[in-house]
Amino acid sequence: MIDETHDRNVTSWVAGADIHEDFPVQNLPLGIFSSGGSEPRAGAAIGDYVFDLPHAFALLEPMAEAACNALRGQTSLNAFMSLTAAERRNFRRAVFRVLTDPGFEEEASKSLVAADDCVMRLPIDIRDYTDFYAGIHHARNVGSLLRPENPLLPNYKFIPVGYHGRSSSIRVSGADVTRPRGQIRPNPDEPPVVEPCRRLDYEVELGIWVGGRSALGAPVPISKARDHIAGLSLLNDWSARDIQAWEYQPLGPFLAKNFATTISPWIITAEALEPFRAAPLRRPEGDPAPLEYLVDDADQEAGAYDIRVEVFLRTHEMAKSGDAATLLGSVRATDLYWTPAQMVAHHTVNGCDIAAGDLMGTGTISGAGESEKGSMMELSCGGRREIVLPNGETRTFLEDGDEVTMTGWAERAGFRRIGFGRCGATIKKS
Ligand code: MN
Repeated sequence: MIDETHDRNVTSWVAGADIHEDFPVQNLPLGIFSSGGSEPRAGAAIGDYVFDLPHAFALLEPMAEAACNALRGQTSLNAFMSLTAAERRNFRRAVFRVLTDPGFEEEASKSLVAADDCVMRLPIDIRDYTDFYAGIHHARNVGSLLRPENPLLPNYKFIPVGYHGRSSSIRVSGADVTRPRGQIRPNPDEPPVVEPCRRLDYEVELGIWVGGRSALGAPVPISKARDHIAGLSLLNDWSARDIQAWEYQPLGPFLAKNFATTISPWIITAEALEPFRAAPLRRPEGDPAPLEYLVDDADQEAGAYDIRVEVFLRTHEMAKSGDAATLLGSVRATDLYWTPAQMVAHHTVNGCDIAAGDLMGTGTISGAGESEKGSMMELSCGGRREIVLPNGETRTFLEDGDEVTMTGWAERAGFRRIGFGRCGATIKKS
């Protein structure tokens, strides 16, 4: 639903917000922050500031009581994400009004904290994490390294393939990632060894934050799946390719994935993303139609999100010389084979219940082009081809001291561009 909060002509009284590339007042992403040693609490990003929501309750509560109750005293957004979509939208309209109507400026400006003075926390107390594999170009690129004549397995075009990940090791942007150790088998003629991973990789993904709750035993029909998609963040599914290669059969990823996942701290709400919904990837001629429980007219029309995500690398050498990070890949979420609603419908088709606190990764997003690869494994052809960086350094996989940063945004004619902020981490020696 498009409303006044998407009007590109409305301006905010917050200095600099209207020209901010990520956080104009049309975005209003939600997160959990602390400042000056305070208890973590809910905030909304506006320009270079964080709007301290509990601090502004006196202004917000008359317009959005349910949301204020769900945020009061909370150190996570779980209760807020359990609200109905209408209650969440109502809250967005209240915050929008306070930050745009000059009549609120004098009072509300007391609730602004400089973003530089804030420490961002995990926005959600994450109870479950599922990672899908919906990036068909990624699946095909990786598949062709393993099975050149048969890159996509026969189930790929029927099932939104996924695996259950681990929530305990998810961190927000800025937290270092320690290179994992594990069993690897560099020489297939010899037994495996336990060593630091040699083939450490990133995966460019979007994280889907679940809203509401479904009952155990009650599949979410695809027509209702959208109600459970409360927002998105950037997600980096760090992957140890050598550990993965040895462990993944027969039960799939395990220790190759669960040592770390990094997310961007701001939840870009489904309401903010409404103008950027797009038609899903057109299935090539000859592909099977999705099974009925995965088909919905509205989803087929506009169930994808037109979001661009870029991934950058800055090595230790580059940081020492003051060089800027170099772009490794630029991908679009419209290249995903399955929509978020199809993921929700599939996740629950067996009766599995979902609720606020669930995080779902889309799977690595890659595109058809050379510059559209969402992992290093694809860029280096499984480690066979060196990636040459601007300063002459080379990589096939990540080295200690490398910093990987993702940024993302959505733009469309007639609307204000909104962005995701950043999702970055540096690799530490194990
Ligand atoms: Mn992944």
